[in-house]
Amino acid sequence: MQYRRLGRTGLEVSVVGFGSAQFRLVPEQRALDALKHGFSLGVNIVHTAPDYEGADDLVAQAVAESGKEIIVCHQGYGDRAHIEWLFETACKKFNKERLELFGIACVDDRELLGENVWGAGGHIEFLQQKKREGRVRGIFCTTHGSPSYIRRLVESDAFDAIMMAYNPLGFHLLSYNQSLREKDSLTEFVPGNADVIPSAARRDIGLMLMKPLAGGLLCEGKAFPPLGSLAAGVAPLRAAEILRFILLNHPEVSCVMPGTASVSEAEENARAGYSPLTLPHGRREAILLAIDQLRSCLCSRCGRCDELCSKKLPVSWLFRDYYITINQCMQFETLDRLEYHVLHPWAEAACGSCADVTCRCPFGIDIPPALVHIHKEMEKFREMGLLPVPADEDPSGEDNALRPFAARLFRKEIPPALDRGQAHLFRLVAENVGAYSWRPSPHSGGICLLVFMGGELVHKVRLRGETPPGEKAHFVFELRSPSKSGFYRLQFVLLDESFQSKETGADLLTLEVQVR
Ligand code: SF4
Ligand code: SF4
Repeated sequence: MQYRRLGRTGLEVSVVGFGSAQFRLVPEQRALDALKHGFSLGVNIVHTAPDYEGADDLVAQAVAESGKEIIVCHQGYGDRAHIEWLFETACKKFNKERLELFGIACVDDRELLGENVWGAGGHIEFLQQKKREGRVRGIFCTTHGSPSYIRRLVESDAFDAIMMAYNPLGFHLLSYNQSLREKDSLTEFVPGNADVIPSAARRDIGLMLMKPLAGGLLCEGKAFPPLGSLAAGVAPLRAAEILRFILLNHPEVSCVMPGTASVSEAEENARAGYSPLTLPHGRREAILLAIDQLRSCLCSRCGRCDELCSKKLPVSWLFRDYYITINQCMQFETLDRLEYHVLHPWAEAACGSCADVTCRCPFGIDIPPALVHIHKEMEKFREMGLLPVPADEDPSGEDNALRPFAARLFRKEIPPALDRGQAHLFRLVAENVGAYSWRPSPHSGGICLLVFMGGELVHKVRLRGETPPGEKAHFVFELRSPSKSGFYRLQFVLLDESFQSKETGADLLTLEVQVR
């Protein structure tokens, strides 16, 4: 593994680090195995956050079990009391008096939300105080702000390191409509972030790059194999070569931080940072060619066509939700109001019957057939039960409104049939529609999902992260099917064990499943 200095923090970090936002979508053991495998291959830096549904607990557990010295990028937000509480909580979780890195999560969002970042008693002042006290070695921030915003962060000299999005495609799975840039100088523009790199290097500010694989748009993820192909005919790229491509092109960058959520991803990503950092002859040109081709068939959400549609369809947002749906790794980032069927509520594809085709894409995307195809695919995913269940289709909606502890099933991923005696992956997302915040409990008691098969309790899945009313919690687990074939009744009940019985829990779903 190669190591580079993280700017003025003086920390030597592996050129490939791991992001942990996707851990909520995989079973806990899979996340632990991925981390520990990466650590054994020399990865020594991980980014995590208190709002990643317990990812920080998993990172703490993996670090402790590995016995290695790992640099963890912790982050905070909120008012002074909250950020202070998050700082102390991180220290406790990692059993440290002094953290290597602590930062501000999405500092541009903090400003938009009116949090006190720069003023007296604000985030920067708090972090500098912790540094003076010797409680933290380096101060960093993450940002999805515009290049000019990031340049201002650099010039402020407030941070020892900055984490920003960058990849050679120029956008990523979550990119927002970039035409907003003119109205909102805080909006991210990935290609422009490259221009910030030299000035950060001149000030000895460490740069960590997130979204190096464009959230799965540049290459297929191993932890979340896509449900379909986005770029038929384009020669596939590998994660390792893209990571190397970035590291070779930008020697001033300290590390790339791809989200890594399986052992095979950990293996490939980590080894991308091994010596010698080179690409085979001719591969660089092949990568550039493939990226060019991807740009002409993937919607970058530049937003230029959004105002052009005669039926007022928000075209770029339809593409975005489709990409997120088929890539799965970031489904938790979709806002309800930006989901495909909210934006396009009709049974038939609007473009299929359009008599006034006014949309145009300067990058060569043939929008009408592309959106007809997307509609067909999204209808298929809806029939498979993979899309969110709208609140008005929730049968328990009215009852829930009367209960302090109440939940509704928001999304499910359940195998259509199970193979005898095999382990199968289940993902259920529950929305807190009750009156109080769900809190994870490290001990017995607290909120958990009970799984019954044929009337017997076969599995219990604990809540991983705090879930306030209106928010969603992921319950992801593997279930071994019975050794006898037949049809079994599966029941999923969410329960607050602190004071309720199964009868008063929230019945999320009951279905019949075939074991074959
Ligand atoms: S379809 Fe083309 S013009 Fe429209 S948002 Fe996507 S890239 Fe931009
Ligand atoms: S073809 Fe579709 S996107 Fe284009 S103008 Fe018609 S409805 Fe709008």
